[in-house]
Amino acid sequence: MKPSQFQHHAPEQIDEVVGLLAEYGDDAKVLAGGQSLIPMMALRMAAYPHLVDIARVASLSTISASAGAVRVGAMVRQSRAERDASVAKVPLLAKAIPHIGHFQIRSRGTVGGSIAHADPASELPAVALALDARIEATGPGGVRHIDASEFFLSTWQTALDDGEILSAVEFPLWGANSGFAVEEIARRKGDFALIGALAGVTLDGARVARACITMIGVGSTPIRCHDAEAALIAGGADTDLDDIGRIAAAPLTPADDVHASAEYRQHVSPAIVRRALTAALKEARS
Ligand SMILES: Cc1cc2nc3c(=O)[nH]c(=O)nc-3n(C[C@H](O)[C@H](O)[C@H](O)COP(=O)(O)OP(=O)(O)OC[C@H]3O[C@@H](n4cnc5c(N)ncnc54)[C@H](O)[C@@H]3O)c2cc1C
Repeated sequence: MKPSQFQHHAPEQIDEVVGLLAEYGDDAKVLAGGQSLIPMMALRMAAYPHLVDIARVASLSTISASAGAVRVGAMVRQSRAERDASVAKVPLLAKAIPHIGHFQIRSRGTVGGSIAHADPASELPAVALALDARIEATGPGGVRHIDASEFFLSTWQTALDDGEILSAVEFPLWGANSGFAVEEIARRKGDFALIGALAGVTLDGARVARACITMIGVGSTPIRCHDAEAALIAGGADTDLDDIGRIAAAPLTPADDVHASAEYRQHVSPAIVRRALTAALKEARS
């Protein structure tokens, strides 16, 4: 199938983007890499008479590093971020990107587009949530920041207001003795994950000074496993990771879909968390 007719707008300034979104309201949609939006339009799951293509807005394609964070512009392609030296300072982000589809998808898909699209099986929303990233939104009222913990509302729904775009994401840097891992189960390499876990730890000897555990594919948003993080920090680096996996899985209420049953997702959740933590701890120790 083909998408219904649309008018393509190609502004070069962010003010023009905001102006076009205000002018066309619900008839307009932001087009970034097009790797989710265009298939949805081609399948007639969505139709928008006006697409506001943000690819020519140079200010949205910058990557910059400061002492405490790396700021990635919304329009930075996933393939560029995958190889970028500043993004390498955010190892969880660098490790997550290769799990997204295939290279062809990542060469068009953007960091901001993935996070704004807010698919609960996607890796980059989970990275943002795990690392307590700050989402920068630009709209008619100017620029504001939204904590990742408040950004993901439900499947494909975010805290962006009407007329706002996601303009950048700030990923905080973790200190020395940290390790990170992404573990997924997918039917084939390149498929969306049926379920996945992203983990990060910072060690201070045998003490776990910091931990994050976030799961994908088990709810309508990525899920941060706060109880499991607290148990790991309380128990230290030699804690039985099967226990931590069970604590992470206990509150989850995954759904059935065409790809996997809720029962399967519930069953494998503890193991996938254990695997991610095992790898993150191994990296932190090294
Ligand atoms: C075959 C295939 C396999 C894939 N596998 C995976 C996978 O394994 N994991 C994964 O995470 N993703 C996967 N994807 C999706 C891919 O990562 C997309 O690139 C991503 O979800 C959307 O990014 P995009 O830049 O292409 O956004 P688009 O498709 O252009 O936009 C997606 C949505 O986000 C909105 N949007 C985009 N940018 C902004 C912005 N800056 N501000 C506000 N709204 C915005 C659009 O209006 C639209 O609603 C796959 C896609 C395909 C086609």
